Amino acid sequence: MPDLRNTDIQYLPGVGPKRAELLKKELGIHSFHDLLYYFPFRHIDRSTIHRICEIDEDMPYIQLRGRFITFTTVGNGPKKRLQALFTDGTGTIEVVWFNRVKQIQESLHTGIEYILFGKPSEYKHQFNLVHPEVDSPSESATQGGMRGVYSLTEKVQSRGITSRVMQRLVATLLQQPAAQTVDDPLPESLRAQRGLMPLRDALAAMHLPTDTDTLRRARLRMKYEELFFLQLNILRYIKGDDRRQNGHKLTRVGAYFNRFYREVLPFALTDAQKRVVREIWTDLTSGRQMNRLLQGDVGSGKTIVALMTALLAVDNGYQACIMAPTEILATQHYEEIARLIAPLGLNAGLLKGSTRTRARRELHERMLDGSMHITIGTHALIEPDVQWKNLGIAIIDEQHRFGVAQRARLWEKNTLPPHVLVMTATPIPRTLAMTVYGDLDVSVIDQLPPGRKPVTTMLRYDADRQQMYHFVGQQLRQGRQIYFVYPLIEENEKLDLRDLEQGYQNVCEIYPHYNVAFVHGRMRPAEKDAQMQRFVSAEAQIMVATTVIEVGVNVPNASVMVIENAERFGLSQLHQLRGRVGRGADQSFCILMSKHQLSRETRHRLNVMTQTNDGFRVAEEDMQLRGPGDIEGTQQSGIAFNLRVANLAQDGQIVQLTRDDAQRLLQSDPTLATPEGQRLDQHLHTLYDKTRHWNQIS
Ligand code: ADP
Ligand code: MG
Repeated sequence: MPDLRNTDIQYLPGVGPKRAELLKKELGIHSFHDLLYYFPFRHIDRSTIHRICEIDEDMPYIQLRGRFITFTTVGNGPKKRLQALFTDGTGTIEVVWFNRVKQIQESLHTGIEYILFGKPSEYKHQFNLVHPEVDSPSESATQGGMRGVYSLTEKVQSRGITSRVMQRLVATLLQQPAAQTVDDPLPESLRAQRGLMPLRDALAAMHLPTDTDTLRRARLRMKYEELFFLQLNILRYIKGDDRRQNGHKLTRVGAYFNRFYREVLPFALTDAQKRVVREIWTDLTSGRQMNRLLQGDVGSGKTIVALMTALLAVDNGYQACIMAPTEILATQHYEEIARLIAPLGLNAGLLKGSTRTRARRELHERMLDGSMHITIGTHALIEPDVQWKNLGIAIIDEQHRFGVAQRARLWEKNTLPPHVLVMTATPIPRTLAMTVYGDLDVSVIDQLPPGRKPVTTMLRYDADRQQMYHFVGQQLRQGRQIYFVYPLIEENEKLDLRDLEQGYQNVCEIYPHYNVAFVHGRMRPAEKDAQMQRFVSAEAQIMVATTVIEVGVNVPNASVMVIENAERFGLSQLHQLRGRVGRGADQSFCILMSKHQLSRETRHRLNVMTQTNDGFRVAEEDMQLRGPGDIEGTQQSGIAFNLRVANLAQDGQIVQLTRDDAQRLLQSDPTLATPEGQRLDQHLHTLYDKTRHWNQIS
């Protein structure tokens, strides 16, 4: 039997080579399977007929029944358009076509009844309908009440493929032999237990539901399937349960921790920090391996918690490591921690990719003989040749840069896996955290250290540039330090570098009496570090940089963050960048520089930034705007989402349900070896093979 995935869309009756090319290029629909899974993004209940006299601008769609009174062609050549006047007896409305003018004019007539369906728009204080769908009443009746609305490009629509045509194509497809029986990847037993629709029925109902309840059940079934396989894939890799059984049992809160707390700690912990330290402590004494995600907004004070966790390990005779995503950050952690633990007589070491062979050898020795208490480093820490005598705790800062597989490599460094604490400043909504981080427990530092003033965020346009420079000048005279950040993306690299260098020169010219540091990702690490260091030591008052500074750098005296081309950054990135200021006692500012013309979504994004400092709100907005698949970090986490129907932000309950079901299934069949398990395994391969690159996580 022909396979849905392997049958080219051009062989579907009603498609053919020309339309096929459009569908492929514009919508990515190559096969029968692709079309079947190209779901409408919404359905409209078309059982209601509206009255022209009642149209108002809040109606997303209207359906009218009436007759055309006149047709007029206006303009010439490519500007030609067809205007018609339509009435339903309660009023008249103008209807306009810009494409396929001749064909449309020939197919429509005055005096006959039609059903029009479309989105009303306002033009010169009058409502009109542009390119509505036009049906004869009998045609409309056979279409049923629920009509799918597909996401179609303008090009596709201008070639006559409307939502209605899509729906017809799907209907045709469902009649094809290949679509008569669709293999259902969900085990019968689960389906029965959860009362889920069979796949074929669900697919049909996704496009052509008979009523809203059927549509709801179809969506539930599709969401369940997506999330179930997502969970199964994750849980299979992290095999949560075996890891959980054993862990170093740390029972002593000893001299180092206590002395640090009493004598060294330069401030009082916030209540949130205290709570989190207690949560960690409970894990460490449990005898099971800790796997905890520590979320805390930028500046909430995660580093101290990390250090205190490390001290708990040292108190019990173990070593600890702290892994950071960049050399700059690793160095900064190292310096701070080395300084803080020196009075305790403890040793800290720094291992980076660029660490020279001799220093590296020496460090390795001390890690192996146990005299290196806390090792701080980058990915270099998970190289195969790196070994500890007794690694008790691994702390991973800014988790989102590390994948599940990399964490797994840390676990292999001991017979008993170390406790793992991952820290992230990207506040991740709970449902997403549960999915991305699998079996991690979550702690949250939901409080900033006292005395912090919220950063004031402003949106400014290029026209206000002089004012912005003036303001920055004032801040400089008050002794503050300033960041200027530029976007740099690979596709655009040459142009971006030019912008960045131009920006650097401008700043040097505008502020001739100040020193300017300059950092971008293409520099050699040593040069980057040196420039960074100039800013950290306050020798330079201004830092012009790309987002390499995004993560973790701490310069409390820096109080202004100017983000150039802010419209090109994502929300979570903007929030991270903003987190670089507001770390000292001074009022800090984040100035988003943007061009004036913005899309609605971009404007919304920038407005969110000016309205809130709350990282969780920013993250939720981000997830709503972009969908979780694009959220900073989820890509690097190595997990492909491929979610078409499910929404991690909204479907928390289904996430939980599928998680439980996947967990139970893996408990009874951990290697997916039973016949049912093998089928699941095969399906996972088709779903995730192309997109899973565990070894390429940066
Ligand atoms: P992040 O959570 O972003 O990693 P850091 O750990 O870098 O934040 O902390 C930011 C700043 O706040 C640092 O200068 C740190 O010393 C300071 N800090 C942390 N905890 C407290 C506290 N309880 N009281 C005062 N300052 C604190
Ligand atoms: Mg940090």
